[in-house]
Amino acid sequence: MNLQNSHLIFLTGMTIYIVIRAIFQIRGMAHKKAVNKATIGDMTLVILVALGQIVFPLLAVITPWFKFADYALPPAALWVGAPLMFFSLWLFWRSHADLGNAWSVTLKIGEQHKLVTQGVYRSVRHPMYLSFFLFAVSQILLIHNWLGGWAAFAAVLLLYVIRRPNEERMMIEHFGAEYQAYMNSTSGLMPRLLGSKKLTDPS
Ligand code: SAH
Repeated sequence: MNLQNSHLIFLTGMTIYIVIRAIFQIRGMAHKKAVNKATIGDMTLVILVALGQIVFPLLAVITPWFKFADYALPPAALWVGAPLMFFSLWLFWRSHADLGNAWSVTLKIGEQHKLVTQGVYRSVRHPMYLSFFLFAVSQILLIHNWLGGWAAFAAVLLLYVIRRPNEERMMIEHFGAEYQAYMNSTSGLMPRLLGSKKLTDPS
């Protein structure tokens, strides 16, 4: 096994990603869930994302199995990919920290669930999914392989397209006008460049 610098950086980032997830997963186990929309479909999406973010890149980096799908990128890919990966990890960590007890891997509402509209949730409703997309782009820039590099992007795109409407429907069912007002004052994935709209009182 002959690891390139870009592969070592990716493996470091992936380890940090797993540690952040594990910490919040362990903390979240103590909180009871009142609404559980963790369908087989939703769990399948979570497994696909894990395959794309962890299993496929690992196979590309530490085994020769995906060699046939390698291609070359200029060295600049590393200089863009590495900072992007660390920024995406920061956003991933902040989204967990800001959601606190409201976070769960699959779609759920906790017994004491409060709507979070602060921190990285202030102008964007899906900062964690944004961090997934940024991490996936950095993976493409660091692992120059059609399978190991692109698997996460494909899986995250599928998760986002399928889960976002389901998640927003669940939030509207539970929070009603409060979530509608939050939707009106924020964008889904990308922060508005010209400032965010003020959160209006739904009452
Ligand atoms: N879509 C969000 C959160 C992903 S975690 C993001 O990309 O950052 C998924 C869980 O977070 C859902 O089960 C839902 O219960 C919870 N959630 C999503 N947005 C929330 C918010 N603004 N406030 C509180 N909980 C939220």
